[in-house]
Amino acid sequence: METKEENNSSLSLAVNTTLPKSAGRKPNEKRGWAKKKATCTKPSDLSVIDPFQVDTENNYIFRFLENTRIMVCYGCGKRFRSSTAEVPNPPFDIVLAKKEYRNYVNELGQLKLSLRREFVHYHINTQCILKKDLLFDGQKILVTHNVTTRLSEEHREFIQERLGLQL
Ligand SMILES: [Zn+2]
Repeated sequence: METKEENNSSLSLAVNTTLPKSAGRKPNEKRGWAKKKATCTKPSDLSVIDPFQVDTENNYIFRFLENTRIMVCYGCGKRFRSSTAEVPNPPFDIVLAKKEYRNYVNELGQLKLSLRREFVHYHINTQCILKKDLLFDGQKILVTHNVTTRLSEEHREFIQERLGLQL
């Protein structure tokens, strides 16, 4: 009667689809996104704001992996690190985060959609984000105070190279 693993059922919502088990792992579909170039955004376009005031449903923020349980890129499906105890060397210790209705495949192989928006994370790579957000551009990235103060020159160069953003 009682199912231990069901207490998250209120948080997830089944989606009517017949996607196979491998859904979400094999992005075979090719779309037009690959042709879109990283946008080159000027520094003045970046907003430096309080992390508690960020609208993370419509914007992306940077997050450091340290002291988090962030593991997998929602775009390419690859891991950021082998365990949560590992903190990659800079500049690979930061990711982009946004709140989305998250697709995931449950233990029965069914494609589910989170009922609430949850944080998903991406590599600092335009291609990873474009896999999920075709309308992505650099102006959706907000830089919060707590992040700005922690960004090294190495991080800034990396962000510029991968996202076309000058911080
Ligand atoms: Zn990725």
